[in-house]
Amino acid sequence: MLNDTKHQEMILKAKEFNDKYLYPIAKTLDDENRPPVELFDIMRAEGFFGNHYGIEYGGGGLSSVTGYGIATELAKASAGVALMLHVHFMAIDTIIKFGTDEQKQKWLPDLVSGKKISAYVISEVEAGSDVASMKTVADKDGDDYVINGSKYFCTNGEIADLYVFAAKTDKEMGAKGVSVFVIEKGAIGMTISKPIEKMGCRSSITTAVHFKDCKVPASSMLGAENGGFKVAVFGLISGRLGMASMGLGIAEACLIESSNYANKRVAFGKPISSMYSIQEMIADMHIKIEVVKYMLEAVANKRDSGVDYSLDTSVIKAFTAEVVNEVCHNAVQIFGGHGYVKGNPVERYARDGRLMDIGVGTSEVLKMVIGSTVLRNFSKNN
Ligand SMILES: Cc1cc2nc3c(=O)[nH]c(=O)nc-3n(C[C@H](O)[C@H](O)[C@H](O)COP(=O)(O)OP(=O)(O)OC[C@H]3O[C@@H](n4cnc5c(N)ncnc54)[C@H](O)[C@@H]3O)c2cc1C
Repeated sequence: MLNDTKHQEMILKAKEFNDKYLYPIAKTLDDENRPPVELFDIMRAEGFFGNHYGIEYGGGGLSSVTGYGIATELAKASAGVALMLHVHFMAIDTIIKFGTDEQKQKWLPDLVSGKKISAYVISEVEAGSDVASMKTVADKDGDDYVINGSKYFCTNGEIADLYVFAAKTDKEMGAKGVSVFVIEKGAIGMTISKPIEKMGCRSSITTAVHFKDCKVPASSMLGAENGGFKVAVFGLISGRLGMASMGLGIAEACLIESSNYANKRVAFGKPISSMYSIQEMIADMHIKIEVVKYMLEAVANKRDSGVDYSLDTSVIKAFTAEVVNEVCHNAVQIFGGHGYVKGNPVERYARDGRLMDIGVGTSEVLKMVIGSTVLRNFSKNN
């Protein structure tokens, strides 16, 4: 797959896009805590918003290796841009899986082309890992539902045209009382907060979303009423692949920066790259990055084969988080004090990489999921 000409062409486009447009403004985006809206038209024209989706949805029919490979490339320049894309993919995936034909026709072509951008809004201030404890409610009112409550940590809030969100249609039923809806920007009663000031991934925008007596038509529900928990967590499957692809980009960028620096930086009369402890750090970084690359290709191919790849994405996301933590640590270490100074790219990558252990399922929760699944599989087999 990696030798596939179309794949190579798209990755080259992403690299050229980085060199020409994204690297030059990456620091500004980080300073200003904002996405590169001025580049969206170019990104649309390049097909970055959904070229790996089927032609029937307006995509280019390319592989997931290519779609997530582009995200990895963009993350090398500015990680939040990859985050923006993979959250958009989470919404698209969920509509493809649970949408009716009518819903798919209505929303997918504009999303896949990037004409419209989407958000995936599950978390609340007091409900993150514990999704089912959400407080936002959706009360039936004729052909509509009336939404009240607030969502938090909405990636793409404000720039999104369409929000896939979860609310309780039965407050007493925990996970069995959740439903998922699609709402379009501008709905009366829906307001988006100012951007939340984040530690990293600042080239993605994160907001709260508030609903006050906000009506959504019943026809915009994805899946069944009270059957939304599985819908809400479905998007997380590809979201974890997205996080891993972003993490790989951050890690590769750290390796490039710190290898170049180690070859140039002189201490005790010789380049620090000639010292074993620096070589060892570079070796550890390279080895783990290579493993993530192979894993990512395998998991992306599994996604395209149509079989269940949910455990695989938890595994690759949790593993990549560990790799990114170590790689970012080593990169700052190789730069010494200069890596600890604002404006140095590895300082930014270290902040961006910190999200790997948190977003789309914390590492602790993923290990709980992986551990319990593995144990269940063993108990089935014996
Ligand atoms: C930059 C950013 C972007 C985000 N984008 C989105 C988005 O677009 N859409 C969206 O819906 N959400 C988004 N999130 C929210 C994200 O998914 C949550 O932050 C994450 O799921 C963790 O939830 P929490 O922050 O409430 O932490 P909590 O769930 O309160 O966890 C706090 C700590 O307790 C631990 N913990 C919790 N439960 C368990 C358990 N059962 N076992 C062991 N340890 C546990 C956690 O691992 C963590 O260490 C985003 C977050 C960030 C920071």
